Amino acid sequence: MKPDVFVFSRLSDEHLAELKARYNVTVLDPKGDIEAQYAKALPTAKGMIGVGRKLGPTQLAQAKNLKVISSISVGYDNYDLPYLTKRGIMLTNTPDVLTETTADLGFTLLMSAARRVPELDAWTKNGNWQRTLSPDLFGVDIHHKTLGIVGMGRIGAAIARRGHFGFNMPVLYTANSPKPELEAELNARYCLLDTLLAQADFVVLVVPLGPQTRQLIGKAQLAQMKADAILINVARGAVVDEAALIESLQTQQIRAAGLDVYEREPLAESPLFALPNVVTLPHIGSATAQTRNAMARLAMDNFHQAMAGEKPQSLVNTELWS
Ligand code: NAP
Repeated sequence: MKPDVFVFSRLSDEHLAELKARYNVTVLDPKGDIEAQYAKALPTAKGMIGVGRKLGPTQLAQAKNLKVISSISVGYDNYDLPYLTKRGIMLTNTPDVLTETTADLGFTLLMSAARRVPELDAWTKNGNWQRTLSPDLFGVDIHHKTLGIVGMGRIGAAIARRGHFGFNMPVLYTANSPKPELEAELNARYCLLDTLLAQADFVVLVVPLGPQTRQLIGKAQLAQMKADAILINVARGAVVDEAALIESLQTQQIRAAGLDVYEREPLAESPLFALPNVVTLPHIGSATAQTRNAMARLAMDNFHQAMAGEKPQSLVNTELWS
């Protein structure tokens, strides 16, 4: 008999057909009663694959037969990792395949906020370009400005490379530990967050969300930033105290922000929308056709490996294997 699996977000027809050839597949209907669908499918599910749903002890208590969750994302803050590990449930993610695309988006946000691209695009389309631009609409330079990377991991390093090689930017960074190879490659300097906030012209957040990084940037940290600084968040919304950020943008305590992620998503309404000095994108860091496809492919491979009792390629809770 084919094992039961539960798909909790959209997959391509091709990937679904591939799953159906091997497993007895139930697909979550996002418009239906989510709790009722969990109650029906989870007790027998051996595997789950998808992205974008909080899956903690409350949701998974009934999933008594669960062996693997394959997340189609690199970040895994939607899962309670210690709980999964305690229960022997493998969690897999999709690192590497989205690194360059997410770094592209991070740098797009940085440039858009610095050069006021969405604001001036709207200004032009609204027919305001009747004489030359007045200085109050000028942007700020990017090249040779100091780039501060908060979280010098895969994506952080890829953003730093863009800044160093493309724009001659000095790079400061924080991480759990120094990265001597990146320092040699990018002439980057490891420092405390306080130093980075005080010295960087662009502060780019690319840390995973966890107990240490929740609200890492609050009122006090925003106050440490330069008056002309720009904050970019491509990590997770909860890394920033959003109310404090809104206040600092309203009062122009910092110059601008470029945001891909928010405390609550999707974001259909927000005081941020009234602010010309913030660029708001709908969590699209990895959202290109090629990269989303590569992520789904990797998640499928991880899933098949784990379901077959093999070590999945990108296992998060590696201690389950040793
Ligand atoms: P990664 O390679 O694991 O890098 C994370 C970096 O953060 C590491 O360098 C780590 O330091 C550092 N770090 C962790 N905790 C820290 C702390 N408390 N203070 C300072 N630095 C800390 O992960 P990645 O692949 O670059 O992805 C990073 C995050 O980006 C993901 O977790 C995800 O939430 C987010 N993301 C968002 C999108 C989007 O669509 N916007 C797309 C992809 C990823 P060490 O190396 O020293 O441990």
